[in-house]
Amino acid sequence: MPSARAYTATSATAPLTPGTLHRREVGPRDVLVDIAWVGICHSDIHTVRGEWGTAPYPLTVGHEIVGVVAEVGAEVTRHHVGDRVGVGCLVDSCRNCDHCRADQEQFCRKGAMETYGSKDRNGSITQGGYATRIVVDEHFVLRVPNGIPFETAAPLLCAGITTYSPLRRWNAGPGRRVAVVGLGGLGHLAVKLAHAMGAEVTVLSRTAGKRDDAGRLGARHFHATSDPETFDRLESTFDLIINTVSAEIDLNAYLSLLDLDGTLVNVGAPPHDLTVSLFTLLPNRRSFAGSLIGGLRETQEMLDFCAAHRVIPEVEIIAADQINDAWARVLDSDVRYRFVIDISTMTH
Ligand code: NAP
Ligand code: ZN
Ligand code: ZN
Repeated sequence: MPSARAYTATSATAPLTPGTLHRREVGPRDVLVDIAWVGICHSDIHTVRGEWGTAPYPLTVGHEIVGVVAEVGAEVTRHHVGDRVGVGCLVDSCRNCDHCRADQEQFCRKGAMETYGSKDRNGSITQGGYATRIVVDEHFVLRVPNGIPFETAAPLLCAGITTYSPLRRWNAGPGRRVAVVGLGGLGHLAVKLAHAMGAEVTVLSRTAGKRDDAGRLGARHFHATSDPETFDRLESTFDLIINTVSAEIDLNAYLSLLDLDGTLVNVGAPPHDLTVSLFTLLPNRRSFAGSLIGGLRETQEMLDFCAAHRVIPEVEIIAADQINDAWARVLDSDVRYRFVIDISTMTH
């Protein structure tokens, strides 16, 4: 079996430590990827810290993966040795249910197989991308267009598709007023994408500290949510709000900012549940929705859109031995705006 060097969690509280793991043999439809860069998503931290339930340890996380094809199985047609490719949050699904057939593999009725922490075909637990190599079915491997600098591409595989999908579904575009709540990994890409789609973008961040960055990323307006007047001033002024916050917030305060027929789409996944008040939804016929990553076809569409519109993630590149420090900085919201691990530094 192919082996890989990796950084792995052994419990909810211990720092990640260097080690090795084994991938399944390259099957006829599998692609072996030499990983070059992997993004740090807040979901990696929620998972390992046990904030969404107990995780299966030892666990290697990471689902914003880009690398180069090193080997392909005999029946692989979509990818070739040497191609620049990406792997996101999904590595398999049934391919046969109505949702899979509609390119919504993330909602596979039999349960999609996630890049880490899922049961693999052989009964083992899938292991993610904080590692030097991965074996994935070709259907779940994306093409990374040349227009996207390789070291910046990884965050698109989760943060990019998670924000692109609801922006498209709820018609972000010219004449639409879109607010993004929380300017982190997902938030900064939501701003860039919504701006590239032609929407009028507002950032709602806790303090004024990210105001200049928001403007540079494409936001026309910025408001600090720590200022209580913000919520009075902005009542009933948005068509679409994307909440990317990783912690519990007062959703009703944000719902009250929706204008007629507006929708608040929640993509943040905090450890504890949030409450929606019906009496905030009734005025203006407001909607509240959730959204979960995106299917493979839409993920490829998003990558091609980013190349065409020069939507490039803002990344801070770190060496593998800085992962634990980077996690602490994500928890402090001290990230501008996605950490990306240089896998060539994983030399242990
Ligand atoms: P991140 O980089 O840490 O960004 C989260 C942002 O939320 C922070 O930058 C901060 O923005 C704001 N925030 C943090 N703590 C807060 C608090 N206590 N109160 C108010 N605002 C706070 O995280 P991320 O990687 O973008 O992920 C964001 C969330 O989305 C996570 O919960 C993650 O698990 C989830 N997620 C969901 C999906 C999906 O498919 N639905 C996919 C990927 C990730 P400001 O400093 O600007 O206030
Ligand atoms: Zn993620
Ligand atoms: Zn299915």
